Amino acid sequence: MPTLFAKIIRGEIPSDTVYRDDRVTAFRDINPVAPVHILVVPNKVIPTVNDLTQDDEALVGHMVLVAKHLAAKEGIADDGYRLILNCNAHGGQEVFHVHVHLIGGRPLGPMVQRK
Ligand code: 5GP
Repeated sequence: MPTLFAKIIRGEIPSDTVYRDDRVTAFRDINPVAPVHILVVPNKVIPTVNDLTQDDEALVGHMVLVAKHLAAKEGIADDGYRLILNCNAHGGQEVFHVHVHLIGGRPLGPMVQRK
């Protein structure tokens, strides 16, 4: 079964796409937690961070550099932002197609709420 994000990348589900190249696609999150909330997704399906291999080293670096580029384009680079990769249940992962969240545009507070 194609993932939700694979369908977005193929244009089968509409999205607000802000960047695309031969390795990654980036689009705005449908339920943003901040003024800027963009997902940077590899065009090939990799379910979780646990499934990354040495072969994906350059791809992961590219995802981070694309996020950095988009942060500058969105005008949030100087104030700062957060990059997040969620993995599996405890990480709160909902879509099993690896993605980097680029979140910013307001102060984001502490990284994780202390219990
Ligand atoms: P995760 O929890 O897997 O790290 O994040 C999945 C993200 O995908 C969530 O922030 C959620 O709002 C976003 N999302 C879920 N469905 C859609 C969709 O159909 N379109 C877009 N653009 N984002 C989605």
